[in-house]
Amino acid sequence: MALTKKGEFWYGTTSGDTQAELRSYSVANRHEATRFAASKCDCGCRTFALQSDEDAGLAIRTCTDCGEEHLMGDSADHLEGSEPETHECVCENEVFELMSGVSVVEGSHKVRWYYIGCHCVECNLVGVFADWPCEADDAAAFLAKV
Ligand SMILES: [Zn+2]
Ligand SMILES: [Zn+2]
Repeated sequence: MALTKKGEFWYGTTSGDTQAELRSYSVANRHEATRFAASKCDCGCRTFALQSDEDAGLAIRTCTDCGEEHLMGDSADHLEGSEPETHECVCENEVFELMSGVSVVEGSHKVRWYYIGCHCVECNLVGVFADWPCEADDAAAFLAKV
């Protein structure tokens, strides 16, 4: 599959498309994402509502099947004083498949920047809906919690 552009937005169908869009966004941001993980609820569901607060460095995903709320990555460390806002697609849908990506500090496993790529389950839009500088110590442990 491949990404296609309509107007100013990109559309795709697979998690690979979302990953490709995330990577190209991260290259433009000068912190290339090199490690990725797709979100999956403990119940097996892969679609979520997403809330984030980029200033606080926090994202919460809510499973559309079982309703479980999950703090993504190291978000639990940034909950205090945060004001998360719900993301909505340009088509007004609020349900997404989520792909996380991180750039790491060169020669280490430390996270440098965190990106959250979304794929709208209604209109197939893909895009990075949130990203922020991040200082988690271990990229693998971080991505195991997205
Ligand atoms: Zn669930
Ligand atoms: Zn949409």
